[in-house]
Amino acid sequence: MEAARLLTDSAARAYDKGLRCDMEAGMAKYFATEAAVENSMEAMRIHGAYGYSKKYNVERLYRDAPLLTIGEGTNEMQRLIIAKMLIARNPA
Ligand SMILES: Cc1cc2nc3c(=O)[nH]c(=O)nc-3n(C[C@H](O)[C@H](O)[C@H](O)COP(=O)(O)OP(=O)(O)OC[C@H]3O[C@@H](n4cnc5c(N)ncnc54)[C@H](O)[C@@H]3O)c2cc1C
Repeated sequence: MEAARLLTDSAARAYDKGLRCDMEAGMAKYFATEAAVENSMEAMRIHGAYGYSKKYNVERLYRDAPLLTIGEGTNEMQRLIIAKMLIARNPA
């Protein structure tokens, strides 16, 4: 979570300065949403049967997290954007 926050802050700082930040935004989106999937899965496991019940928030987080990796640019597309920008910014 902390690494996701730091990447998001970095992208937001670049945006606030009016700099190009599609790569930074892609890195933040990719990392934070993958962390959401991993962390919600871990929460589900920790809560056991309670994590599966709609009575608790963990069930909703577990169900919602995968959507974050698809909407607003899938994570596969984020990886392509990041790779293209890294190559463009660091010519051999
Ligand atoms: C629950 C849900 C809610 C949504 N809500 C909204 C909404 O409110 N508003 C909205 O505008 N859209 C919404 N969407 C749509 C979402 O933005 C699209 O599903 C998403 O952009 C992927 O597009 P697609 O479904 O056409 O998949 P496709 O573009 O057909 O891609 C299918 C899969 O192939 C991968 N892929 C495609 N091309 C490449 C490539 N060149 N290299 C590697 N991998 C590739 C993709 O990453 C994806 O995993 C929602 C989707 C879901 C599942």
